[in-house]
Amino acid sequence: MHRRTDNPAPSTIRNRRNRARRLAKLLKQLGGRCQECGSRRHLTIDHIYGRDWDIRKVHSWKRLRIYEEEADAGKVQILCLSCNSRKGQPSADDGYFGPEE
Ligand SMILES: [Zn+2]
Repeated sequence: MHRRTDNPAPSTIRNRRNRARRLAKLLKQLGGRCQECGSRRHLTIDHIYGRDWDIRKVHSWKRLRIYEEEADAGKVQILCLSCNSRKGQPSADDGYFGPEE
């Protein structure tokens, strides 16, 4: 059943809240701060061994689930934007900005 609406459905709003909660949990799991300098601002998810999937082909809501799986596998860490940039990788597309951004 498809309903056409211009307003966000209640489920969409719920999903957004749910997403914010999951992101907060993910950041907490990863230490909640930049692993290089300890900053809590402009946090990004950094792929320690490089990202093996194309971020442009994955919707943002789906990225969170991938990040959660990668966090469990120890493949990602938190870096602030400037530390991430210093790694020399294209950081803008690697960045998943935390709630403080
Ligand atoms: Zn940093």
